[in-house]
Amino acid sequence: MSGKIIVLPETLTSRIAAGEVVERPASIVKELLENALDAGATEIAVELEKGGCQSIRVTDNGEGIGREEVALAFARYATSKIGTFEDIYRVSSFGFRGEALPSIASISRVEMVTRQAFSPAGTRIVVEGGEERGLTDAGCPVGTSIAVSRIFEQVPVRRKFLKGDLTEQGYCLDWITRLALADPEVKMKVTAGGRMVMNIPAAKDLSERIALTLGRDFRGQLIPAAGERGGVRLQGFVSRPEFTRSGASQMFFYVNRRFVKDYLLNHAAMTAYRRVIEARRYPVLVLSLDMPPGEVDVNVHPAKLEVRFRNPRDIYALVVETLSGVIGAGHAPGLHTGASGGGDAGRAAYAARVEEALKRYRVSSGPEKLIFGGAPAQKRESAPPPVAREPEPGAEQPEMRPLFSALAYLGQVAGTYLVFAGGEGLVLVDQHAAHERILFEKLRRQAAETGERAIGQRLLLPEVVSLPPRDLAFVTGSVPILEEAGMEVEPFGGDSVVVKALPAFLPYAEAKTLLGDLLADCGEEARDLPLVERRERIFTALACRGAVKANRILNPQEVAALCLDLDAIPQAATCPHGRPLAVPVSLFELEKMFKRR
Ligand code: ADP
Ligand code: MG
Repeated sequence: MSGKIIVLPETLTSRIAAGEVVERPASIVKELLENALDAGATEIAVELEKGGCQSIRVTDNGEGIGREEVALAFARYATSKIGTFEDIYRVSSFGFRGEALPSIASISRVEMVTRQAFSPAGTRIVVEGGEERGLTDAGCPVGTSIAVSRIFEQVPVRRKFLKGDLTEQGYCLDWITRLALADPEVKMKVTAGGRMVMNIPAAKDLSERIALTLGRDFRGQLIPAAGERGGVRLQGFVSRPEFTRSGASQMFFYVNRRFVKDYLLNHAAMTAYRRVIEARRYPVLVLSLDMPPGEVDVNVHPAKLEVRFRNPRDIYALVVETLSGVIGAGHAPGLHTGASGGGDAGRAAYAARVEEALKRYRVSSGPEKLIFGGAPAQKRESAPPPVAREPEPGAEQPEMRPLFSALAYLGQVAGTYLVFAGGEGLVLVDQHAAHERILFEKLRRQAAETGERAIGQRLLLPEVVSLPPRDLAFVTGSVPILEEAGMEVEPFGGDSVVVKALPAFLPYAEAKTLLGDLLADCGEEARDLPLVERRERIFTALACRGAVKANRILNPQEVAALCLDLDAIPQAATCPHGRPLAVPVSLFELEKMFKRR
């Protein structure tokens, strides 16, 4: 490094900050739409050229901006939405950081025309690369129209990261859809290259809006869901278990009206659905959580896609219970109306679901292939034991699908082994090995199937770690693999790397320790392995770090969640290291022990 320390000029700092807010054209669409909604618009038009890569125009009929404030709207941290720090915890608007307009304007050319209802003339302002290029009178209707062009022209690196126009357009439409679902009464029109691609009329309620936004075939397939717990309200619509999708892209969650992509919420929904739908199928859902602002921190990430709940366990339970109740009821006529899933009705519904799932297994795989019995006492003729006694290390038996969640949980031994009763005897599960396999499969599936990386937990303060040369080469050479697991690491010059995000299942790990453990677990020889094998090593090591340790008491809910996860992964008899994860003790063996045979 060379030179003196200088304070970066504002044009540069905003461009750096813009990287956080404006990742791609869709981020611009999102911010402009949110501003329009915050301004009370009832009609919004979006025009995209070349998928938003060339230009984006958003026109609204909202309250507009006064002449004297137009320039201010483009100043950093200028917002009309909060006044004091405490307000952050009370805001009901989408925006409050005052970062969007300056960020967008720093990487593009923005032309805005706007007029307030009572003012005779409107105002036009042009801002380019963060510099104001003129402010004049303009004749225009009430509301605001913002046209953004020359996007990322000054930031060629960003441009390079953009995908094809159609893909970028898809990302834009995703955001429009998410916001359209958040505000059923607002009319939205979208054109792309002059052609109408979405025309969503105002709807009187959410269910109508879902049909208008996502498509008519959703009508009749969605059932209302509602629940409440500790001041947190959940409501919305979820698909019947028969109506599933091959991807998770139509699972919409909102927290206090804000669309979020939240691992916890997704997991909770999948936990409820996994009991009634097949592996690798996903429900459609539009669910809103409303809670006092103090219960959730939306200020975690500039793009505000992640939130942090004060009581994540309660939220998790609320989602699982509400959805379980509702979709369970879907199978048992007469039990509908959004039962919360608690109480006897909930338990009955759960039992019914397990039965239903069992029935489906029986139908789809035939009696010989059904491995675990439902009730402990009932004996089924000549079924093979749950998991092969002496499995080959890493061997997978795809035709056998044990149903861990149908076993009766008896308890934990030595804080490590979970004991279950099934129709064929006992099943012992090593909690660490089982959890390790679950995490490993999740990582592997995510990487292989969707090509997506796992969601990482962004560190508020990125951590710089210096490494010996050989380790440094290994880590930098493995960046794409780590990224697939949700761990963001970048070279940081010299002998260091900077860790920006950790795998979501290791949110409390310490970056330095985790890297050290990873290097130790992978071993020296991993450095020379081809990429595919190296990936397995790294995933194994991360899964091992993330898995519940031996000697930890699990509560029944945790055990139930583990079982559901085990049911959802491709069947494997061992942990990724090759140790068995479950060992059956058959009735025959028990009878022998007691000299009944
Ligand atoms: P934030 O939304 O976080 O306040 P922005 O940079 O997105 O910050 O916008 C800055 C300000 O500009 C807003 O607080 C609002 O007062 C004004 N503004 C932006 N877009 C619109 C719009 N479409 N209609 C009315 N006012 C707007
Ligand atoms: Mg805004």
